[in-house]
Amino acid sequence: MSTPRHVKVLIIGSGPAGYTAAVYAARAMLNPVLLQGIQPGGQLTITTDVENWPGEASIMGPDLMVKMEEHARQTGAEIISDHVSSVDLSSRPFVAETDSGVTYHAETLILATGAQAKWLGLPSEEIYKGFGVSACATCDGFFYRGAEVVVAGGGNTAVEEALFLTNFASKVTLVHRRDELRAEKILQHRLFENPKIEILWDHEIDEVVGTDQPLGVTGVRAKHVKTGVITEIPCKGFFVAIGHSPASELVKDQLTTQHGGYVVTKPDSTATSILGVFAAGDLTDHVYRQAVTSAGLGCMAALEAERFLAEQLVTP
Ligand code: FAD
Ligand code: NAP
Repeated sequence: MSTPRHVKVLIIGSGPAGYTAAVYAARAMLNPVLLQGIQPGGQLTITTDVENWPGEASIMGPDLMVKMEEHARQTGAEIISDHVSSVDLSSRPFVAETDSGVTYHAETLILATGAQAKWLGLPSEEIYKGFGVSACATCDGFFYRGAEVVVAGGGNTAVEEALFLTNFASKVTLVHRRDELRAEKILQHRLFENPKIEILWDHEIDEVVGTDQPLGVTGVRAKHVKTGVITEIPCKGFFVAIGHSPASELVKDQLTTQHGGYVVTKPDSTATSILGVFAAGDLTDHVYRQAVTSAGLGCMAALEAERFLAEQLVTP
């Protein structure tokens, strides 16, 4: 077993939150080490155009993340391609073990492991992902101006996505597997009042249908959960909004979490339930889930880690 590496700031995750934390921690001369995980660059590497990152009218998601990585490296952050297999937060320094066999002892830890959208798991959904099938209306709604779209789900996310999509789409059909929504009443009220929205109760999406050349969605087949009768709904866009899974496996038994695994942070802070452990980005955020908000939280985490270390009088 190799000798553990002692670091002042260990950042886990290489999405906008992780890279922003790395930039700020490096500029604070804290020599941060960032472990990228199995998806270097995070969720934005699986999308195409990003049109809401300030300063870039349109940029490909993977290109944006390469720029963030380069920026973090240039400021002096050490970026390492490795995946964390376990962390022990029971005492400081915190211990992180990686797949490559390296052990890190960290004075402070910034968790930025993100979240992943839940998918239905249909083979046809997989075929059209990025070509009409999306899990992010804020990101992709703009591409469906004047078109019909379908949203699947019955929680806050689905209702908010359906409402948001009415800004672009000519018609939005919300398909929900029960006859009542889980979403907050106020959101339901807005949904029911909106003339552009139709609701198909007691239905589950059975299949996404579309064309091969060009690859694109033309509709969905929804099955009645009791009768099995199929209803075909024409649409150009299909939005899956059945929840997100925060990537909190590493810490869910050690930190306080909420809403199905989101790490709880203190108000106006990225501090978690353990002193010296900070969390940023989609891992903590069940509301906004945007690149820019993740980056902002990454910035906060680095500044708070810096302040924490100063208070502890940790010497190099
Ligand atoms: P993520 O981007 O989720 O990154 C998490 C990182 O953690 C990854 O690098 C992963 O490898 C790493 N990681 C996880 N577990 C471990 C581990 N055990 N060890 C080491 N590393 C680990 N937002 C926008 O603002 N605009 C858009 O246009 C937009 N489009 C989107 C399109 C799609 C298809 C999707 C899925 C999301 C989109 N989003 C968009 C949302 C945006 O991508 C997220 O809000 C943002 O990426 C969250 O950043 P993050 O840093 O919190 O985590
Ligand atoms: P959620 O509350 O878990 O709702 C998921 C919805 O998808 C449910 O209606 C569920 O149906 C449905 N669903 C789940 N799996 C499905 C499947 N395989 N097939 C079909 N339908 C499926 O998730 P969310 O809406 O993303 O919200 C997550 C958390 O974030 C919640 O705590 C929510 O309150 C919060 N949130 C808050 C805001 C806000 O405050 N503005 C916005 C968004 C999210 P059932 O109802 O039948 O289970």
